[in-house]
Amino acid sequence: MEEGLGFAVKYPFSASAKAALSGTELNERIVDMAIERLKKALKGDKSVKMLLHDSDRKEEIASYAAARMILGHLRNNFLTNSFAVNESKKVHDHLDKEDVKTVDAVAAEFGIVSGSAGGKMDIDLPTYLKFSTRNPHYRLINRRLICGRVEITYDEKKRLVEEAVRKHIEIIPLVKDPPDIIKSAGKKLVEELPKTESRIIANVKEGDHPPCVMRLLEEMKKHQNLPHQARVFLSSYLIAAGMNDDEITGLFSMLPDFSEKVTRYQVGHIRRKEYNVASCATVMTYGLCCAVCKIGSPLNWHSLDDYRKKAIREGTA
Ligand code: SF4
Repeated sequence: MEEGLGFAVKYPFSASAKAALSGTELNERIVDMAIERLKKALKGDKSVKMLLHDSDRKEEIASYAAARMILGHLRNNFLTNSFAVNESKKVHDHLDKEDVKTVDAVAAEFGIVSGSAGGKMDIDLPTYLKFSTRNPHYRLINRRLICGRVEITYDEKKRLVEEAVRKHIEIIPLVKDPPDIIKSAGKKLVEELPKTESRIIANVKEGDHPPCVMRLLEEMKKHQNLPHQARVFLSSYLIAAGMNDDEITGLFSMLPDFSEKVTRYQVGHIRRKEYNVASCATVMTYGLCCAVCKIGSPLNWHSLDDYRKKAIREGTA
């Protein structure tokens, strides 16, 4: 198992990273590296540097801490969530190349301790519920649960760690009165943030869409990440609701892991292949239903026709 600064660089939230930072002073170079780290998160760039010297490694760890300070000062959901998603994906990439001991050590940082029963890996239910993703594959109904322990695979364990990292990073303590270099770094970053205005969000009124769709739009407004099924469901629904690809892509630009190229391709694909909008029963299996509308399909929502006509009038169809 890799230890010391090498481990701390890859897992900058770990106790050993905190220990490595002891005595390190914040300086302009570290803050510039933090800005770079945050900008890379906005682009979904997971590349990592080759660091030869211990001093470089310490600065790299400090850039993570400085990035968190900037985020704690800015309180910008889009930036924070983009950072959390990118850093957690980087961790997952590292874990894929680690030995079992290292994966266990990183998992233990979040209290994820697996056991084994009958040759299968398992973890306790509360930890599983805390860190499992919203993908239907992780729903308890699709799991073997024995004596309060949930069966998982080794790959799923790494996915739980990724989710734990994302959740950990998303909780950024408020930094009320940071040093001036942090304040000016924050200002610089805000000026460079992409415009994430979406007309779909800006113009939506209560009752325009069924509760499941309104809830997803609300989550997007807060720049929260959405699972794959939610994206496909929302795209097919908005296409059926008369929205054009530009409007839908603009909406997805509010997600922290947005890629215009991928989104345009996927929305175009859903339109070309004429994906059916999921029925209420299917939306329920995705874990996205949040009301009892008794309409069989979100497409039977009472004001959908009015919304379509409005989209045609406003040229968003
Ligand atoms: S009942 Fe259907 S339309 Fe209503 S929230 Fe659930 S999935 Fe959406």
